[in-house]
Amino acid sequence: MSAPRAPLIELAGVCRSYRSGDVVTHALRGVALSIEAGEFVAIVGASGSGKSTLMNIIGLIDRPSHGSYRFDGRDVAGLNRDDLAALRRGCFGFIFQHYHLIPTVNALGNVEMPAVHAGAPRSIRQARAAALLARLGLAGRIANRPSQLSGGQQQRVSIARALMNGGAVILADEPTGALDTRSGTEVLAILRELAAGGHTIVLITHDAKVAAAAERIIRIEDGLIVSDSGRDAARASSSSIAVAAWRASGASPPLWTWLEEAARSAFAALAVNPVRTALTLSGIVIGVASVVAMMAIGRGAQASFMERASAIGTNWVVVSRAGESAATSMPMTSADAEAIKDLGNVSGSMPAVWEAGTLRHGNIDINAEVIATTAEFRTVHNWDTAKGAFFTKEDEISGNAVILLGATLAAKLFPTIADPSGSHILVNNIPFLVTGVLASKGLSERGTDRDNNAVLPLRTGAMRLYGKDDVTEIVVSIADMSRLQQTKDAIKALLIRRHGREDFWLHDAASAFRKAEEERRSTNLLLGAIAAISMLVGGIGIMNIMLITVAERAREIGVRTAIGARTADILGQFLTEAVVLSAIGGVVGLLLGALIGIVAATLFGMTVIFSITMAISALLGAVVMGTLFGFMPAFRAARLDPVMALSGQ
Ligand code: ADP
Ligand code: MG
Repeated sequence: MSAPRAPLIELAGVCRSYRSGDVVTHALRGVALSIEAGEFVAIVGASGSGKSTLMNIIGLIDRPSHGSYRFDGRDVAGLNRDDLAALRRGCFGFIFQHYHLIPTVNALGNVEMPAVHAGAPRSIRQARAAALLARLGLAGRIANRPSQLSGGQQQRVSIARALMNGGAVILADEPTGALDTRSGTEVLAILRELAAGGHTIVLITHDAKVAAAAERIIRIEDGLIVSDSGRDAARASSSSIAVAAWRASGASPPLWTWLEEAARSAFAALAVNPVRTALTLSGIVIGVASVVAMMAIGRGAQASFMERASAIGTNWVVVSRAGESAATSMPMTSADAEAIKDLGNVSGSMPAVWEAGTLRHGNIDINAEVIATTAEFRTVHNWDTAKGAFFTKEDEISGNAVILLGATLAAKLFPTIADPSGSHILVNNIPFLVTGVLASKGLSERGTDRDNNAVLPLRTGAMRLYGKDDVTEIVVSIADMSRLQQTKDAIKALLIRRHGREDFWLHDAASAFRKAEEERRSTNLLLGAIAAISMLVGGIGIMNIMLITVAERAREIGVRTAIGARTADILGQFLTEAVVLSAIGGVVGLLLGALIGIVAATLFGMTVIFSITMAISALLGAVVMGTLFGFMPAFRAARLDPVMALSGQ
């Protein structure tokens, strides 16, 4: 080597003061120090003399208030947070008095951590972590959590972690302080071994016996160096582990690795307090469940509404008798229907009699709804025959004994015959010729079978079954719905004129549907508001729990920062936790919503239609909520000062 090499660590005039309120503490008051690569240095001093402050500055966790620090020949003053993180990750390994392992992660995971932030692939990481643990005599303890290890074992795990990315410089702050004598001796032996292997080691202790393990002893008092045994020329020149090309180690981990790690630590953190987690999630769960159930039921209602509307259309008015007794009301007749037909804006007027009747074929008796009406039935109800033929004009005029059977009724009366057209049956003991079978309409929205009926000409019914011309209802088709009200008024006036009194009711589909639709809308609005509020409450719950988590895990955040996590890594980790939390809430909410829908369908006979789009949007909504409300706590975590986080013991 031609030019003399710069010391690895070179401090000049380093001061560090802490200000809390009006009180200023000068922890370091002008420290000058240089350490060569490969040295094993002990910094000794009484408690409060500034040792930890010095170590934090050397380890780039903290910055001097004054003075300069050159690391490997470079002034670190100009480096930003992420550059410093890269340098810590690539060059330093930290060992703390209280180990500072992450409690939710096992030994292997703790050792792996620095390599995760350096972007090493999982398999390489795990192999190296396992090898390091084995080298430190912990081969059988790989899967143990920190709480399942003794103090000495935990400290060995933390040494393995310090070595994970190379650990060219190892900074150990009172590494034996919490250990029994034997474990302490073991740890010091390991440090000596590492020093012999070329690691630069800075050992901080208040204990002169511990300091004796080092080759050079620096004494510090009240923030000033008071003695330095001087460097060992032989060691300084011997082979040492070069600090890594740390700029290269600044590569971000691949997105997938990063997400996987973040999600893994999220689940581990959530598992620590499942009850609290579940309670926090209830807002999101209720929000998502109500959105899903509400939309499914709403869509079901809409669909059955559309079905009704398309079955009969909405352009009709039904006139029905108001009173039952002949004394108080005059019967409506087909003549009324004919008179209505002559009104303006009326495109059709279909009188009908609905009466229960007994139908018989052979020895089979069935009770069914018998509808006596006109051929307009086909267009008004959009209901034609599936087999055979509808009754003819001639049948209507002559009152022929012909009948059409609903699909269910036909199947019941003629269990062995596919098409009963041409057969004879008895209706209330009067013979009828079956001319055809109606197309199937299936169940009504109330669950009654709409195919258990029979249809015959109005006049046939009057002549052969009932002996009178009364009708139970008149369905009036309206030509122009924009003049519905005038037409209703005209029908009313006409019938009052004909009957001498208002002994009938008018119902129109349009108003009925409009009313139903309005009700549906306001219910949806209400449910939507409930869903939005519970989502909001859920989001706030997530923010709350994340803030608590960040406070509880300040130490972990400090450790992660010390071992080289970038600001973005910490931000991302806590944001991912918030998202994982809300996604879990979302999935549980989806399941609950589906359950509510199924219960509504099976227990209350509601029509329920689930939609994938809806489910995905509800889930996305929950995740967006988690992201929004998780951001503030995550940001707080990322901004946490590692010195503060690590100091509070
Ligand atoms: P040591 O590690 O040698 O015990 P420290 O470096 O931890 O000493 O502390 C040096 C001095 O700085 C002490 O007087 C301590 O009270 C003070 N100090 C350390 N950290 C802080 C802080 N975050 N805020 C205020 N004072 C601090
Ligand atoms: Mg200390």
